[in-house]
Amino acid sequence: MLLKDKVAIVTGAASPRGLGRSTAKLFAENGAKVVIIDLNEEASVLAAKELGAEHLGLAANVADEKDVERAIEQVIAKYGRVDVLVNNAGISQPLKIMDIKRANYDAVLDVSLRGTLLMSQAVIPFMRKQKSGSIVCISSVSAQRGGGIFGGPHYSAAKAGVLGLARAMARELGPDSIRVNCIAPGLIQTDITAGKLSDEQRLNILTGIPLNRLGDAIDVARAALFLASDLSSYSTGITLDVNGGMLI
Ligand code: NAD
Repeated sequence: MLLKDKVAIVTGAASPRGLGRSTAKLFAENGAKVVIIDLNEEASVLAAKELGAEHLGLAANVADEKDVERAIEQVIAKYGRVDVLVNNAGISQPLKIMDIKRANYDAVLDVSLRGTLLMSQAVIPFMRKQKSGSIVCISSVSAQRGGGIFGGPHYSAAKAGVLGLARAMARELGPDSIRVNCIAPGLIQTDITAGKLSDEQRLNILTGIPLNRLGDAIDVARAALFLASDLSSYSTGITLDVNGGMLI
């Protein structure tokens, strides 16, 4: 029970096969009261219900200040505190550099980067008051390699921005005992990746992964549990690679 009685928010956690959903489930199994935040209310409520009655599902666009404010008000009204935030919501677009239009850039940067900023800003005052908190930000191997398989250059930029933002927050919030860390997943089988790989692409990718398999959502969820809990009590500003050895 690594998160017993902790209140943990996971954004982008309604997608049934997603990293966020798997993280929310593992957190609930570890005693947390979990808040699922995603775009669609019905899906969020249903996902929370599946975890049990003490959990909460809310609709919010993480890139919208008012939505975020409203969601955190509801969290505080119900639980009175926030111990963990996982900034997981993200979208990717497989575009080449010259095909990125302003709307593409805005959409991808808004969810990953502005979303991470707004959600963090919304919970920090409560974590400061508590003198404790753990923020986990989901970046990507695309930020480290300069390009991935699905996300375009704007996705790499957004996810690299998340790494910088997280480190800066870690530095500033350390004295308040708030830890901020990142996970950089490699290629994980979820809806973001589903059906987008040809057999040839899959084989090519696997030759570059020493563990010789794509990742599963639970691989990332376990890393999130480590960073969210006291197991990582002396780690802040780190990036945990969950990529099967892709960067060796
Ligand atoms: P997914 O598409 O299954 O889940 C993403 C969720 O985010 C969805 O439920 C979606 O509704 C939600 N979302 C999108 N925009 C939102 C917004 N504005 N506000 C609130 N919620 C929003 O994707 P996934 O594969 O589970 O990815 C989760 C995170 O991990 C993303 O940030 C993604 O970039 C990152 N990531 C994934 C992989 C991978 O291989 N799957 C690799 C590296 C990083």
